[in-house]
Amino acid sequence: MRVLITGAAGFLGSHLSDRFINEGHTVVGMDNLITGSMDNIAHLMGHERFSFVNQDVSNYIYVAGELDAVLHFASPASPNDYLEFPIPTMKVGSLGTHNTLGLAKAKGARYLFASTSETYGDPLVNPQPETYWGNVNPNGPRSCYDEAKRFGEALTLSYQRYHGLETRIVRIFNTYGPRMRLNDGRVVPNFIAQALTNKPLTVYGDGSQTRSFQYYTDLVEGVYRLLFSGESMPVNIGNPVEMSILDFANAVTEISGSSSDIVFVHPKDGRFTDDPKVRRPDISKAKRVLGWEPTVDLAEGLAKTVDFFRSRV
Ligand code: UDP
Repeated sequence: MRVLITGAAGFLGSHLSDRFINEGHTVVGMDNLITGSMDNIAHLMGHERFSFVNQDVSNYIYVAGELDAVLHFASPASPNDYLEFPIPTMKVGSLGTHNTLGLAKAKGARYLFASTSETYGDPLVNPQPETYWGNVNPNGPRSCYDEAKRFGEALTLSYQRYHGLETRIVRIFNTYGPRMRLNDGRVVPNFIAQALTNKPLTVYGDGSQTRSFQYYTDLVEGVYRLLFSGESMPVNIGNPVEMSILDFANAVTEISGSSSDIVFVHPKDGRFTDDPKVRRPDISKAKRVLGWEPTVDLAEGLAKTVDFFRSRV
């Protein structure tokens, strides 16, 4: 297959590019590098089946030749980035989704939209099944991401219903691993960087809010299976092991062998506004339709991620 991956220089886009290349496919990677980095795909440059286009998918995109699949993974993806790039975040989830859907339609390609657990907002149901409609603030600092992704889902399904496009929607829960940006502001890089430099781990609020962390290899496997499945409605891909952020901080210090303390902070700049109090995927649908479930536990995934960050702090 010849596959277009947007956000190919990002954390997930680059790992997906690796997977498709390793499976023998041809990958066209696209990224405008506002939050992605060429470091993530340096090893693919020069590969005969990989090419890279530095382009903003929120503007009209042109790709020569045939395409069999389009995977739209381009987007800023951390609360810090939404604060810095709220309009590009809205544009890539809306105009970028429109452009990539139009491209998929023109090429007769299958389309996969990277959605998010943020579509559930601050959920009133835990764990979250795909049938839950969510509890989203339409005008807070996170809304540029949440609402763009919700619009993206609706647009993807409109193309499926109106044009008969083959579409897939993955709702990605917190994912971590090598190639995350050290300074992206999310909890995994923050805590690991703090632990490795023996600085206090900055727990926001009282640390009782929960998340469920999946290692990137599990996500890549789930996305790969979803693309080749027949499921056009959204599918959660995440690890259902839920923990409080305070427990997560302790796990990071333990696994990294750090003597860092924990401090409780209350960011006032919007990073903590509307922070979901709980988050945990209901993965029964992924099990049923994809035969998928995560295989990497936190101890193993965190140890590998700490190794990656150790050489970079
Ligand atoms: N968080 C934290 N300290 C940090 C960064 C984040 O306690 O230095 C918390 C944040 O408030 C949230 C959780 O960790 O409850 C996950 O935040 P992240 O930004 O990684 O992603 P989110 O799941 O909120 O999109």
